[in-house]
Amino acid sequence: MSESARPRPAAGGRFAQQTDQARAVAEKYAQQTDAAAEFPVAVLDELRAGGLLGLMVPTEYGGLGGTLDELLDVSIALGRTDLSAALIFAMHCQQVACVVTHAAPPLAEELLPEIAAGRMYLASVTTESGKGGHLLTAGAQLSADEGRSGHLELDRFAPIVTGGAYADGFLISMRAPEALSADAVSLVFARRDQLEITASGEWDPLGMRASHSVALRLTGSIPGHQVVGEHGEFRAVVLQTLGPLAHLGWSACWLGTAAGALSRVLRMLRESARGKDGRLESELLLSRLSRARQRLDTVHALLRHTAAVVTAAAEGGTDVSLPRNQLLINSLKLTASEECHRAVEDLIDAVGLRHGYLRNSPTRLEKALRDLRSAPLNYSNDRLHQADGVLALLDAGVSFA
Ligand SMILES: Cc1cc2nc3c(=O)[nH]c(=O)nc-3n(C[C@H](O)[C@H](O)[C@H](O)COP(=O)(O)OP(=O)(O)OC[C@H]3O[C@@H](n4cnc5c(N)ncnc54)[C@H](O)[C@@H]3O)c2cc1C
Repeated sequence: MSESARPRPAAGGRFAQQTDQARAVAEKYAQQTDAAAEFPVAVLDELRAGGLLGLMVPTEYGGLGGTLDELLDVSIALGRTDLSAALIFAMHCQQVACVVTHAAPPLAEELLPEIAAGRMYLASVTTESGKGGHLLTAGAQLSADEGRSGHLELDRFAPIVTGGAYADGFLISMRAPEALSADAVSLVFARRDQLEITASGEWDPLGMRASHSVALRLTGSIPGHQVVGEHGEFRAVVLQTLGPLAHLGWSACWLGTAAGALSRVLRMLRESARGKDGRLESELLLSRLSRARQRLDTVHALLRHTAAVVTAAAEGGTDVSLPRNQLLINSLKLTASEECHRAVEDLIDAVGLRHGYLRNSPTRLEKALRDLRSAPLNYSNDRLHQADGVLALLDAGVSFA
């Protein structure tokens, strides 16, 4: 492995050792899983064994009791190596946070020890044909299972489920039982062995290939207590937990990938300049490096500020759904999805064809660019701008979180 391709240690912190081990496995398989569009099973095994699947599970359930900033640290570190592996981890942690914060005791007590023990990798099912990415509506409806008292029947087509073929359980958004309108949405948990799962189509995307985000049809019957939050109240789960953690987690992964790309480029440039007194004389190159770094520092500052606002709201019991908070959380996603991708484009211009465009360069800019191209699509930025326009009108005083 060349110097510029070798993974650097994670930033430190309580979970540095587990994170470094997961990164080392991700590094080993990233090229292969990207080429074959395969799920990184070995990385998931390492996340299970090292306890990181239980990062967000409180210690009383056997988890690591990680903080939001620690989730971001691990996501950034994994993102430096492989965006698909990072996203798989961050999205699982979003699901876990929903269970921790919103599941009633019987479900929480069943599930959280399993997650902490590394036996329960959770996938997310919110996207649906017809409504696309719109989170707060659902077409397919839960119904009472006529054959099994107290059970709910589900039949849900899910066009894109990251890690869906390998998940041990799913959090699924569906129209609430007996609801008359599409915006009465429930979130339910289903174990893999409670479902019949049929995969359809093939997964052969431009980037994020190892996320193995396949189309699945899920049918089955689940005990009635497997609802997360109140029936019809998925909106509260989204506003309080899923939305903030999704935008923070994804942004951390994207930032990690762009930071990894910048770091590999800088190391390569320093190595190649060694014979020339360590000097790089092109002003254009220097200003492109500066621009890329500026973008990443901007995203990092916004990420940490948003995390502080979300943490303070959770700890102080203040309302994270206030327009100024939602605008900040959305702004982070919009900014990170655009700036991280642009930073990699800057780097491609900076180093040119050989190290910017060829697949076998140790800078791996080509893969970073393909992977990061998904960021504005992963919950469409157009949808977010539309929501933000409405939120902006609700905050005529333009207050800042
Ligand atoms: C790598 C990756 C992994 C993913 N993993 C999962 C997963 O595990 N589970 C899951 O459920 N989903 C997942 N998704 C789906 C994702 O979160 C989005 O919901 C999905 O990509 C939206 O698909 P879409 O762009 O076709 O649909 P839409 O969001 O419907 O958008 C289609 C187009 O229409 C435009 N548009 C539609 N409606 C509006 C509107 N109201 N205002 C403005 N513009 C609009 C959009 O700009 C877009 O160009 C994943 C996506 C990616 C890229």
